[in-house]
Amino acid sequence: MSKILPDSISDLIEEFSRLPGIGPKTASRLTFYLLNKPDEDIERFSQVLGDFKKSLKYCKNCFNITEESPCEICSNPARLKDKIMVVEEPLDIVALEKTDYDGHYHVLGGVISPIEGIGPENLRIAEILDKVKKNGIKEIILATDPSLEGEATAMYLSKEIQKLDIKKLKITRIARGLPVGGDLEYADEITLRRALEGRREY
Ligand code: ZN
Repeated sequence: MSKILPDSISDLIEEFSRLPGIGPKTASRLTFYLLNKPDEDIERFSQVLGDFKKSLKYCKNCFNITEESPCEICSNPARLKDKIMVVEEPLDIVALEKTDYDGHYHVLGGVISPIEGIGPENLRIAEILDKVKKNGIKEIILATDPSLEGEATAMYLSKEIQKLDIKKLKITRIARGLPVGGDLEYADEITLRRALEGRREY
């Protein structure tokens, strides 16, 4: 088969196609769009792309993505330390920060998913149990997605926390009203706020 495109072009198309939501057609369109851009625009783009992860780390306390650890939320004295909302991903925090939630977070780094080979040991579950043991936490809000895996993870966590038998600790689950199977990070502000206000003991 004869080669139609130069390697540097097909390589870039291939890289773009690996991104979520980008099919081969969009990948080609993006590549040819960049081809027509001035060199300095491309250089800036590749520099931003090359550097963007370098300054980032996980907050040692909540495992949010941050430039400074502890992150801004964990180091804010106005936030209630005895209330922790457990979420799947840092993006969930971005969505939840649009509500008036005033506590801390804990990012699990995913959900339990036997199909994908993700067990509790692959998530930051031991870390949240440690916090519960040590810190005089009054409320744990389970805010995993309303998906099958999210529900199973919330249930698992609830059981593990209950086993610790901590007095005066309330475990709550954000209310339904979030679309089942939906992604927390895409939920609108009002739905999120309602889900949070309607949380129930779990
Ligand atoms: Zn933090």
